[in-house]
Amino acid sequence: MNNAMMAKRDLDVIWHPCTQMKDHEFLPMIPIKKGKGVYLEDFEGNSYIDAVSSWWVNIFGHANDYINDAVKKQLDTLEHVILAGFTHEQVIRLSERLVDMTPKGLTRCFYADNGSSAVEVTLKMSYHFHKNQGRERPLFVSLSNSYHGETIGALSVGDVELYKETYEPLLIRSIQTPVPKDQSEAAALEAAEALEICFKTHPDEIAALIVEPLIQAAGSMHMYHPLFLTKARELCSAYGIHLIADEVMAGFGRTGTMFACEQAGITPDYIVLSKGLTGGYLPLSVVLTTDEVYNAFYCDYELNKAFLHSHSYTGNALACAAANATLDIFESENVIVKNQETAKYMASKLDRFKSLSNVKEIRQCGMVAAVELKGYDSSERIGLKVYEYGLKHGVLLRPLGHIVYFMPPYIITKEEIDIMMDTAYAAISQI
Ligand SMILES: *Cc1c(COP(=O)(O)O)cnc(C)c1O
Repeated sequence: MNNAMMAKRDLDVIWHPCTQMKDHEFLPMIPIKKGKGVYLEDFEGNSYIDAVSSWWVNIFGHANDYINDAVKKQLDTLEHVILAGFTHEQVIRLSERLVDMTPKGLTRCFYADNGSSAVEVTLKMSYHFHKNQGRERPLFVSLSNSYHGETIGALSVGDVELYKETYEPLLIRSIQTPVPKDQSEAAALEAAEALEICFKTHPDEIAALIVEPLIQAAGSMHMYHPLFLTKARELCSAYGIHLIADEVMAGFGRTGTMFACEQAGITPDYIVLSKGLTGGYLPLSVVLTTDEVYNAFYCDYELNKAFLHSHSYTGNALACAAANATLDIFESENVIVKNQETAKYMASKLDRFKSLSNVKEIRQCGMVAAVELKGYDSSERIGLKVYEYGLKHGVLLRPLGHIVYFMPPYIITKEEIDIMMDTAYAAISQI
């Protein structure tokens, strides 16, 4: 089987995510045969550095020996069991560890199997929390330019027009308040003022504010200062509104700390985790919340008081085993400290992009670096050109429009960073 034969079989039967399928009349489908470390290899022996961690999930490389062993071992023990009325050791151990490592006060773990579903869990749980306390609060607030997933509820609180506009009539009620416009403290304070006005304008209507702490990834890798989160926490507490921290992308070291909320010194009412949670192995997500929220649902059996939400694969044992192995690696290999070195090296390489005439801005937060291009309109599909150049030169870059970004697995070496960023540099300088 060569690439072309695999691609033909694929295109005969598969409708791919987030893709105009007709593009594949000119854009080759890349069938991947195997992965190892930061490399993916196709059916003709070409290899590609996975500069996007396969959509931001793969944090310790492909076919990681340690996670492989843990999943194999679990496979011979218990692959899955219903999580209602039953439990298993992997999910218990994982939950104990998550409660331990997330900001203080988050004490209860509710599982789902992808980021969007976990966002849905927080929206329903927050609405239901207020209802159980005799308050009707059907409105959610989110930040401009935010992204929280693709299911209807998650899409409703998002603000990326490209994904949302078509489905407008189907969405639940949400309003947006401005995200801080850059990474400065002044911008954080300005946005906090707007947030307070928003809260004041809708008294007793808002269930929760949902934010992506520090980085709006799908929203063009937009970044802001932690001070905004500190202020948002204060305002939410003052107005009795829940704060939901969607760390689906940011969690597990991506922003430089284990969780982005740590940089603001806050505990949200809900933290949403997925992507890096299983090291990119298996779909799993979790919402951690407080005793206060948990206790609002805890009572003698009464209709409509309990949280009757579930997914078939909730708390899947294989996924939990992959997650525990991932957390083992964080513990045994001092990952957060090592990442600081790696991030510093990426910063040193990022600097020279500034000198290119078609670069508008560079930005970085921990293990995410981005180069924003200027002088193109969207019909030029500039990102696609960078993508094609990258593939030809052995790097999987997947720009978001005119934003070229780097979000590699943490195990990437300096030599591999050189290849990844020099390739992007070459691509940008010759378009
Ligand atoms: C990816 C992402 C989601 C959605 O997760 P899925 O697993 O793709 O459904 C939600 N929020 C943020 C911040 C994300 O980056």
